[in-house]
Amino acid sequence: MRTIDMIISATLSNRDTVKQIERDERVLKTYEKYPELQKIDNNIKDNIRANLMKILDDELDPDSLHDDEERMLLEKREQFLKVNCISSDFDKLWPVCEKCGDTGFVRKGNLRVVCKCMGEELNEAFKEAGLGDFESVRPSLLDAKAIKNPENKRKEARSRLDAVIVSVVEKKEQKVLIYSDKAQTGKTYLAICLTKVAIGCGLTGCYVKMDDLIGASDEKISDYKYCDFLVIDDFSSMLTNNFKIRFALDRILETRINNGKFTLIVMNESPSEAVDKSDEKIAAKLSRIECL
Ligand SMILES: [Zn+2]
Repeated sequence: MRTIDMIISATLSNRDTVKQIERDERVLKTYEKYPELQKIDNNIKDNIRANLMKILDDELDPDSLHDDEERMLLEKREQFLKVNCISSDFDKLWPVCEKCGDTGFVRKGNLRVVCKCMGEELNEAFKEAGLGDFESVRPSLLDAKAIKNPENKRKEARSRLDAVIVSVVEKKEQKVLIYSDKAQTGKTYLAICLTKVAIGCGLTGCYVKMDDLIGASDEKISDYKYCDFLVIDDFSSMLTNNFKIRFALDRILETRINNGKFTLIVMNESPSEAVDKSDEKIAAKLSRIECL
């Protein structure tokens, strides 16, 4: 699984090439319009080159690479740029995104979050995290939805999870938690939003429905074991009777509990019911897990 950082850095290296091409075109156009400026710039380069040769031949002290001639030329250049209203950074690389300075991330309080210019990259990361079917689920809609359903526990769960996510992002205490509530109370929606927020903060996150563990590849199981933030949705004690699911879930939980990695197990049944009805090995783990 590629992390959001990996996806962003691939985009940024393409962006660098674009910026260099744009810079070269800008310099060419400026020189065409102001040949005098090109002459000054060439003189500066020639002067440095000549001094370098002298240094190599021991004819000049290395400290004298930048000499009075160069200072005079730079002053002339500055004047020329000013008089002709040419930006002093016309020959520099200009960032494509002013907001993040082409780092792909911006700071929000203590958090480092993905910049808006990386929307497509973020969607790619969501897909890799198993959220491809939930494109329309947006964390920004969470509050409006919570107000619509004041009856359910989601609001309460939301505030608990908000605190949890801050600690996960700040790499403080992390644990495995059970989030249990009756069906149709928006648990999945909330869990997906939280996974998206975690990924948007640069963490590796995965979302998986428990019955999908049956066909999960070794590579996927490894992602589930080691990612920073994991949601196991639709937990069902019945499914622990399936050998493949039980085996995968046991390995995942074992690794995550031992390594203190944040995990949210979402279920409709009550935690005590889940412990009673689950396979022995899974039940032993569940009984030690805190509820949200
Ligand atoms: Zn940006």
